[in-house]
Amino acid sequence: MAMVKSRGRSTYKTMGFVLGAVDYGDSDRIVTFYTDRFGKLKGIAKGARRSVKRFANAIELFSLSTIIFSRTRETGFAFIDNCDVMNHYPGIRHDLEKLLSASYIVELIDQMTVEGKNNHMLFQHVRTFLDLIETNLYSDNLIRFFELRLLRHSGYDPVLDHCIICNTPIDAMENPCFSAMDAGIRCTRCRNGGNAHIPVSVGTLKALIMSRQIDIDKINRLSLSRQSLKESEELLGSLIEHTIGKQLKSLKILRQIQKMVE
Ligand SMILES: [Zn+2]
Repeated sequence: MAMVKSRGRSTYKTMGFVLGAVDYGDSDRIVTFYTDRFGKLKGIAKGARRSVKRFANAIELFSLSTIIFSRTRETGFAFIDNCDVMNHYPGIRHDLEKLLSASYIVELIDQMTVEGKNNHMLFQHVRTFLDLIETNLYSDNLIRFFELRLLRHSGYDPVLDHCIICNTPIDAMENPCFSAMDAGIRCTRCRNGGNAHIPVSVGTLKALIMSRQIDIDKINRLSLSRQSLKESEELLGSLIEHTIGKQLKSLKILRQIQKMVE
């Protein structure tokens, strides 16, 4: 996979989104990317705060860049040699709600992935959704669809079509409830003693099942009703929170801002 090998270090090239960056020392930055070929990758960009030419706006949050990096071992710490910005997403940066949503997307990816584990589908998934947000198809629906598919690509797909205990299909249920701990639905009979706290309508469950199956280019044809949107926000939010063990900062801010402009 290495392009060149010199002085004990191998050099690689990949595409990646910036998940976060912190200053280090006088002029360096430590950057976390989600990459096409290496999954989550952390590395040091030497002189990044001085060398505008080498890094420009390529290491700003959620920028997509071509990255050239080198390291001594397969899983070792990376030295970011060069970053060429491919998409800086100006349309997202000029709109507060879009900006907060994109920040939420990359914070989610950062929390739900581990370093060095490649997942090309997940990379494509982030790229598709940032492109959709950039090209003005932004809505709350879109963020729910992102969460739903993110859970699938990360191996946390919830059971939405039947009771996880007795297998009763949702069509035969009166008051289905969702349990984040079980990552699935329980019927009225199986609720007792369980952790199913979130009531959810059969209509919402069907809408979610459909939206995780539909082709991504048709996703803007789907629109959740106000009630379904509210229920899915709660259902998916509780599952994500349970999976990563906390509520994300960026989601809290996004919700506060949305309340202010409502
Ligand atoms: Zn049941």
